[in-house]
Amino acid sequence: MAADRSLPSPPNEKFAKALDFIEEMTKNADKVQEKVLAEILGRNADTEYLRRFNLGGATGWETFKSRVPVVTYEDLQPEIHRIANGDRSPILCSHPISEFLTSSGTSAGERKLMPTISEEMDRRQLLYSLLMPVMNLYVPGLDKGKGLYFLFIKAETTTPGGLVARPVLTSYYKSTHFKTRPYDPYNVYTSPDEAILCSDSFQSMYTQMLCGLLMRHQVLRVGAVFASGLLRAIRFLQTHWRQLAHDISTGSLNPRITDQAIQERMAGILNPDPDLAEFITKECEGENWERIIPRIWPNTKYLDVIVTGAMAQYIPLLDFYSGGLPQACTMYASSECYFGLNLKPMTKPAEVSYTIMPNMGYFEFIPHDPENPVELRRDSPPRLVDLADVEVGKEYELVVTTYSGLCRYRVGDILRVTGFHNYAPQFKFVRRKNVLLSIDADKTDESELQKAVENASALLREFHTSVVEYTSYADTNTIPGHYVIYWELLVKDPANGPTGEVLEECCRVMEESMNSVYRQCRVADNSVGPLEIRVVKNGTFEELMDYAISRGASINQYKAPRCVSYTPIVELLDARVLSAHFSPAPPHWTPERRV
Ligand code: AMP
Repeated sequence: MAADRSLPSPPNEKFAKALDFIEEMTKNADKVQEKVLAEILGRNADTEYLRRFNLGGATGWETFKSRVPVVTYEDLQPEIHRIANGDRSPILCSHPISEFLTSSGTSAGERKLMPTISEEMDRRQLLYSLLMPVMNLYVPGLDKGKGLYFLFIKAETTTPGGLVARPVLTSYYKSTHFKTRPYDPYNVYTSPDEAILCSDSFQSMYTQMLCGLLMRHQVLRVGAVFASGLLRAIRFLQTHWRQLAHDISTGSLNPRITDQAIQERMAGILNPDPDLAEFITKECEGENWERIIPRIWPNTKYLDVIVTGAMAQYIPLLDFYSGGLPQACTMYASSECYFGLNLKPMTKPAEVSYTIMPNMGYFEFIPHDPENPVELRRDSPPRLVDLADVEVGKEYELVVTTYSGLCRYRVGDILRVTGFHNYAPQFKFVRRKNVLLSIDADKTDESELQKAVENASALLREFHTSVVEYTSYADTNTIPGHYVIYWELLVKDPANGPTGEVLEECCRVMEESMNSVYRQCRVADNSVGPLEIRVVKNGTFEELMDYAISRGASINQYKAPRCVSYTPIVELLDARVLSAHFSPAPPHWTPERRV
């Protein structure tokens, strides 16, 4: 930014102000953090939660750090349940809880519920408002066209106490902040709001793709929130281009689009354009999808998708479809708190670092050293490291204290410090703790996978068969990706071993055992494909061990990995597959929570 004189100066006052704001916040990271903590503790001093720790009105970090424990979602569940059940007293926060944001993280198989307050929307909006001023430093002229973004709302529910529970982006798209946003030439989307706000995912996607095709020359950037979402859109084009081309050729909307608001809006957008229809047919009918993005949207300067963390698995496929267009990861955020942004959005995904904005919440860091873990005793809370004091090269687990009332809450993300922008550290997202498998928003941990394998393998008992060893693999070679579980079986009576049908049933039971986000991805979003069990030859896992030992693993400490991703290992497993079985039906899922 200000450091690189070769960059263009901001084109308008608003952008200049945004960049100044980033400079001011990052130059005064420590002071801003102190102020944020004092504000949060000041306004929440009388909450039931903080009163427990006898802060006596103190708003400084010393009392806070010595008295308030570091917690997980599970620790706060009793308070969260009370809020969900209608207790309106100031439990965690002095401001009224406006709604719950449903995180893609789960607890006991259900989405986590994050209480939020209405002013948090302004804080999120503030972070959004910084993205284009930064992007403009690297890619100017984005006001001369539009963004083709695939944006969706998801199912929402109401808690027994009457609060809405929904994902943070659904909350944002349905807010007046979004719906009545003033015209901003840097943020014009091809997708009409009516399509984004349609809860039927087919109609929403169809309309957004149709508009993207109609305005193809105006499109300067193509994006979705996560890489998996953009790939789903490409898959949609592959499946539906004929109908889309038909609509464009005739100027009539697919009869499957029954949403009235969309129909009315599209009446003003969709006109017969046989030349465009012919072009789309020509590009798609050969089934050659390489570089499809720049072929259809030739003015695309970059893809706007998150490809850090679990999404890194999609980088090669995005390269294939985009002909290597830059993949910009612009921000790092969660339902609990929006954290920060990437000040160099054009850097390669592997080098992306996010700068946490010190005004968004109060941030602390648990040094992450598996050999030397920090003891997190409730009766004697640890000091933890402050935002401005983290050290380059070290890894930390992020802990946040928010205006909505989370105090010293473990987010579950492991971050590595790569440097500083002024006095604000920059972090590479390393991984989410405990996540074994992830295709889209789903996150499956080791114990969930273990439970699913146990439930499914119970079906093998009557065939005197047991699962000797297992591992898993997130297969993203197809869209949507799917979970593959490798099973080595001990079949005592091979003449009466489990049939293919039984193994299919095992796949189904495993899916039923997965958490609600997984099942939602399978059922409502179609963003995860049917789970597959691959039965491998006896002795395969021993070979896997030999392989690991040949690469330096210790024999004594060797444990079969519960998830594999390293290509030679996946190849080894695949070369030993005896049979493969897919889940025959999607699992059960409703937006309601399981009791
Ligand atoms: P949710 O609570 O469902 O909104 O998910 C938030 C989580 O998504 C974060 O805690 C991260 O684990 C992950 N996440 C969000 N933004 C990024 C990013 N830019 N790169 C990698 N992971 C991210």
